[in-house]
Amino acid sequence: MSPVIPIRAEADIGCADAPVLRERGQREVFCGLTGIIWLHRKIQDAFFLVVGSRTCAHLVQSAAGVMIFAEPRFATAIIDERDLAGLADANTELDRVVTRLLERRPDIRMLFLVGSCPSEVIKLDLSRAAERLSKTHLPKVRILNYSGSGIETTFTQGEDACLASLVPVAPVSADDAAPSLLVVGTLADVVEDQFMRLFAELGIGPVRFFPPRRAGDVAPVGPNTRFLLAQPFLADTARALEARGAQRLPAPFPLGEEGTTLWLQAAATAFGVAAARFHEVTAPKRERAQRALARHRSQLAGKRIFFFPDSQLEVPLARFLSRELEMALVEVGTPYLHRQHLAQELALLPSGTALSEGQDVDKQLDRCRAARPDIVVCGLGLANPLEAEGLTTKWAIELVFTPIQGYDQAGDLAELFTRPLLRRMKLVA
Ligand code: SF4
Repeated sequence: MSPVIPIRAEADIGCADAPVLRERGQREVFCGLTGIIWLHRKIQDAFFLVVGSRTCAHLVQSAAGVMIFAEPRFATAIIDERDLAGLADANTELDRVVTRLLERRPDIRMLFLVGSCPSEVIKLDLSRAAERLSKTHLPKVRILNYSGSGIETTFTQGEDACLASLVPVAPVSADDAAPSLLVVGTLADVVEDQFMRLFAELGIGPVRFFPPRRAGDVAPVGPNTRFLLAQPFLADTARALEARGAQRLPAPFPLGEEGTTLWLQAAATAFGVAAARFHEVTAPKRERAQRALARHRSQLAGKRIFFFPDSQLEVPLARFLSRELEMALVEVGTPYLHRQHLAQELALLPSGTALSEGQDVDKQLDRCRAARPDIVVCGLGLANPLEAEGLTTKWAIELVFTPIQGYDQAGDLAELFTRPLLRRMKLVA
């Protein structure tokens, strides 16, 4: 039998009420179109049609790389000068592009029209376009829309906007339906499968994931739905689900051994799983995750880390790195601090952690340079200049693309931080 591994209690209120430095200045972030890169892999019969400029097309294409073997599941309908000058009817053009696309690609079951800065500039109403086109193409293809525009957003908000647009499509669950669990937020298939097995072992079910892998499998939602957020950047999606009567289960996010345990614990409590059963199922996996983390702790303990605001994963990552790997948090910057969704995370951060929300990039760079942290988590635009100044960096976007949630990925997540430090040490040696 495995030894009892206690779940660490909150030592104090951590940073629950901590002051936050709020900055509103120049920012260095990608726009929400970036989310298409992981969303198109998840919903396998969906297509993302960006209605944007050549810049938008270039961003999505270069971020996704060139897909040589698969039929692409995203494209850009380019708004050109004639559209911008109001000389062409952009709606007619869009209808033509969509009709041609759906004729050529009978495998598409869900089409997202994704708004951009240029489509917003010419005030192209994509929700009306989606409604109009749905009339022609339903029931075979469902057409939805959301905005991936870069004005005042950050790149993970693209996923939030996409998933929020999917909520109205969810069937209404019957009032007398048994409580069901919905895991909300895009997870790699391998992670989803692991969680599915864990929930089954715990006797929790039915469990569905949102977004689903197939467009036709959107889970029913209603007052009997309990949902767990798997990602911390889904404020609009959560609001839309709550408006349908679903109840959020407050929990930290499933990063690291502790985060994963507390996340599962929230579901176990809501579904009445006995403590002994919970322990029996999770203890061997927790032990394995702790062993994987111990290998990295010796390299990361005491190392000082600085987060620039980028992915919105910063607070859960900071909690994981400080509590499970004993790293020291110099500053934890995040684009938006959602106090409600992050309440359990903030309570676990060491008291006195320097938190900042929003960005004034020059001021923040000054603080970072003055602190000379051992590692900096930031966007691609800041990484190269900081590396050139001798600082070690980690691209925040990599943490969104990589499977990092759950017990089996805890060691891999730690390794994402040890690797750049070891590389720097080799360069210096
Ligand atoms: S949506 Fe806006 S910020 Fe994003 S690539 Fe297009 S023009 Fe640039």
